[in-house]
Amino acid sequence: MKYLYGPVKSRRLGASLGISLTPYKTCDFDCIYCQLGRTNNLTVERKEYIKVSEIINELRTWLGDNREIAQGLEYITLSGSGEPTLNTGIGELITEIKRLTPLKVAVLTNTSLLVDSEVRRQLLEADLIVPSLDAVTQGLFIKIDRPHPGINIEEIIAGLVALRKEFRGKIWLEVMLLKGINDDIRHIRKLKDIIEKINPDKIQLNSPARTTAESGIYAVGRPKLKKIREILGQEAEIF
Ligand code: SF4
Repeated sequence: MKYLYGPVKSRRLGASLGISLTPYKTCDFDCIYCQLGRTNNLTVERKEYIKVSEIINELRTWLGDNREIAQGLEYITLSGSGEPTLNTGIGELITEIKRLTPLKVAVLTNTSLLVDSEVRRQLLEADLIVPSLDAVTQGLFIKIDRPHPGINIEEIIAGLVALRKEFRGKIWLEVMLLKGINDDIRHIRKLKDIIEKINPDKIQLNSPARTTAESGIYAVGRPKLKKIREILGQEAEIF
């Protein structure tokens, strides 16, 4: 399989079959914590990096060959080794998946393109969107996510607020917490104010558990994570 991977089991999504919509590390971020290493194609160009018809052919074959496994899946997850919303075919892909199978569709995104109303429109048929938000100030955002020049955290937040108004499915906001970088309580309180505006169904707190793109990136300890969860409120969960 070229574009499908898994099924993978995670506490967040249960059993899910992953689909990659871009070539390896085609992304508009170069996060210091990325498990996949450095971004080798830092781009904001949207195009059909991988043809929807090729992905659908592969999925159709997989579903035909794996009927029993497919019955145990929670989601088909659009994610992979780059930013899935860079692929202009993402809306068509979600529609085609829904024609093929009753399985729910989740989209994992770094949130950068949600400011674009066309990108938000293309995601409307998904069941779940898991957008990430690691910082709420431009300086910290650049330090952690090392975005393509011109990407602005204010626009990302505006995109999330707009998504909440337009999207009828679930939104689980992911926050990657890095020791000594974005786990300062003052930053967490600012984050809380922004999250209240976004109003996600859940907040998922994460901290690096595997190799990161840069060395010297450490996970936040459990006691601090619990304190952060208390500040962020009932919807926050630690993963
Ligand atoms: S957005 Fe995701 S794929 Fe892109 S660099 Fe960050 S962690 Fe890696």
